[in-house]
Amino acid sequence: MLTIDGSAGEGGGQILRTALALSTVTGKPFRIEKVRSGRPKPGLLRQHLTAVKAAATISNATVDGAELGAGAITFTPGSVSPGEFAFAVGTAGSATLVLQTVLPALLIAPSPSKLILEGGTHNPMAPPFDFLVKSFLPLLNRMGPTVTAELERPGFYPAGGGRFNVTIIPPARLLPLEMLERGAIRTIHARAVVANLWRSIAVREVNLVGRLLSLSDDALIVDEIHGALGPGNAVTVEIETEHHTEVFTGFGEVNVRAEGVATKVAQEARAYIASGVPIGRYLADQLLIPMALAGAGRFRTGPLSRHTTTNLEVIRQFLDVEIDLVEQPKRIWTVAVTGTRN
Ligand code: ATP
Repeated sequence: MLTIDGSAGEGGGQILRTALALSTVTGKPFRIEKVRSGRPKPGLLRQHLTAVKAAATISNATVDGAELGAGAITFTPGSVSPGEFAFAVGTAGSATLVLQTVLPALLIAPSPSKLILEGGTHNPMAPPFDFLVKSFLPLLNRMGPTVTAELERPGFYPAGGGRFNVTIIPPARLLPLEMLERGAIRTIHARAVVANLWRSIAVREVNLVGRLLSLSDDALIVDEIHGALGPGNAVTVEIETEHHTEVFTGFGEVNVRAEGVATKVAQEARAYIASGVPIGRYLADQLLIPMALAGAGRFRTGPLSRHTTTNLEVIRQFLDVEIDLVEQPKRIWTVAVTGTRN
């Protein structure tokens, strides 16, 4: 049985999710210890517990120790049964991260699946729903599958209550993805959404992002979302390039001025634009699993995040793939999955 150290590298929930995902894919059981010990509140939070249960459900696994706050679990998968599932986090914990856990196994399953996911859909420190549908899934779909997601209701922290549906149609086999060039920037949009908050917050945010990134007025979008359980505010910068779309997101918080949220996301977008690479830091860690499952693929990205390097280490423990990292020039990395390790 594999033993995974949950305190390694980045020391967060991603180590657990990657281990669950690849255990269900490979059928290899594992024990993880020191779960999220790099975090102020270590152990399994509701989101992570939901991810464990979701992975167990789709793979008919037996699990030992899965309870709130647990620092270790043992996971023994059975065979994956694609189908229709509903997973609810029960708090504002990220439902997109629950999807991240079950998606790899369902992506290479023999038949399609339909999921209903409930919880947070617009969380800081997790893939926001817009990033999922505009950035991650289009790239994933280029590898052969057809994965679509539809938002029924947004869920912001701390109220949660979001809900979305996902349909996964696996390909005959996963194809390699190559993303080495960014190409020309076609459009940049700034979008601010508010739920149960003043519209003027969103207006201030897009105006500032527009000024900082020199956008014209018709590139600024304000959305008032209806149907959310609680208040919420997010600002996104969507950069459509020749080959794909990147989405950067900032979240409004109590005691943080709208201008602060807008400035931070504009800076992130500016750094991406200046870097000239196609793949931003979030896509970089999230593309690794599908690329490793395809057994080939390459992308260029900026400085590697600890999420990326940590994810790589967990992937290497489960899969027999060669993943090369080359820094050339400084701060620009080519990540290449080059096939089976000798
Ligand atoms: P913990 O509570 O242990 O910090 P977690 O389970 O909430 O962890 P992480 O281990 O920090 O999550 O992993 C977060 C994941 O969310 C990563 O895959 C990261 O790429 C993704 N992510 C974070 N912020 C964004 C963002 N703004 N846009 C897209 N993806 C994001």
